[in-house]
Amino acid sequence: MKKKITIAGAGLVGSLSALYLTKRGYDVSVYEKRKDLRSEIITAGKSINLALSTRGWTALKKVNAEKEVEKIAIPMYKRIMHVINGNITEQQYGKDGEAIYSVSRAELNVIMMNLAEKNGAKLHFNEQCVDVDFDNITAIFENNKTKNTTKVTSNAIIGADGTYSAIRDVMVKKLNHEIEIKYIDHKYKELLLPANNKGEHLLDKNALHIWPRGNFMLIALANLDGSFTCTLFASEKGEDSFESLNTEKEVTNYFEKVFPDFTSMIPDLYDQWKKNPTSSLSIVRTYPWNFNEKALLIGDAAHATVPFYGQGMNCGFEDCRKLDEILNQNNDCLKSSFEEFSQERKKDGDGVQDLSMHNFIVMRDKTADPKFLIQKKIEKKFSELYPEKWTPLYSMVSFTNISYSKAWKIGMKQELLMQKIMSIPNIENIWESEEIMSKMIELI
Ligand code: FAD
Repeated sequence: MKKKITIAGAGLVGSLSALYLTKRGYDVSVYEKRKDLRSEIITAGKSINLALSTRGWTALKKVNAEKEVEKIAIPMYKRIMHVINGNITEQQYGKDGEAIYSVSRAELNVIMMNLAEKNGAKLHFNEQCVDVDFDNITAIFENNKTKNTTKVTSNAIIGADGTYSAIRDVMVKKLNHEIEIKYIDHKYKELLLPANNKGEHLLDKNALHIWPRGNFMLIALANLDGSFTCTLFASEKGEDSFESLNTEKEVTNYFEKVFPDFTSMIPDLYDQWKKNPTSSLSIVRTYPWNFNEKALLIGDAAHATVPFYGQGMNCGFEDCRKLDEILNQNNDCLKSSFEEFSQERKKDGDGVQDLSMHNFIVMRDKTADPKFLIQKKIEKKFSELYPEKWTPLYSMVSFTNISYSKAWKIGMKQELLMQKIMSIPNIENIWESEEIMSKMIELI
């Protein structure tokens, strides 16, 4: 008889894991607390679009889901940095043709749910997991409309219920699992930059746009309809913070002062400012991720991170592929597979969190620093000359499937080496010289 799996959460990761598990022959039921977003696109206050990179695509390809997703994906080959005086600088993300992709969260989620359902997964909506009886492998769901509760017993429960996971909460409460939730000082708010009157993008759609301003920044990713979804990341309190931006005058003055080119393109800035929520950002670390063969956490439920590397979903998609590999190696023994997944993948959960915090500083601060841009050019040149000796950190994370933990370790070693290179006198003028390449080889 087919083993039964109950998944809590039909978000990006829950839906993809349902597709993976039905393909392995499991009898999969997914319970989602929201209504079916296929009837009306809703995003639950989350980002409207996301950057999909190589590891996300790798996981999609393994279950033949990439063709559908390609239809909604816009390649972004470079970062474009907008200086306060209106000038722009550019930085190619990878080698020629390498790109990260802007995709609509809601449309991607719809594709994943449709594919999972087509492959046999049963999806239930308005069903919120409120408790778990681990001894009997029973999850308890409350219907948000009727308030009726349903007890669902299966061979295993998967918690794909996101940052505020109920399954994780019950693991912490009843099984004493470790938990650490860290809210960062920065919050975010989304704003929509509309298309022009011909429905065209007002900025280069094939780039991720950044307005780096030290302690805060604005970013923009293109949508298929000609608009851009823009996100302001700023401190909750202090100078240039959300706390100081309330009245129309305060908001308009701030935007005109720090993002003048952007402000001139967005007519209803203050209306959007009032209407759109300001949301918090957190890192969640927990361990273990499983309870025997009975329950497992996956995606944000296991390793929610801040969005500055654009890797949360990519990491969650990689979870689905890795779990599939581990189930293969263990002949579908759930106990060994869940234990191995928890032990092995935890390192990468920590890795993606460290990388995400690191990239926050890079994006908001360093991308505006000319010396940093030279550093990146040196790394690029060196990696083109000696690809076997050097893959830039951004490329390791976004364009390979090297584990996050390994990428983080290598990246930090590279950073130490580059600090030595950047301290060479007159580096601004001699960075292209043979001497610098030789020095890199010597230091490696
Ligand atoms: P979620 O997407 O949160 O889905 C969880 C699902 O579970 C939801 O549908 C929810 O309704 C449901 N649920 C919750 N509780 C229960 C319950 N008790 N019972 C039943 N169902 C429940 N990642 C990237 O890779 N690239 C990016 O560019 C990127 N940008 C981001 C920008 C922002 C501003 C933010 C906040 C995040 C970004 N991320 C990005 C991260 C990405 O959104 C998450 O990593 C990803 O959504 C995780 O998917 P998930 O399925 O694990 O969780």
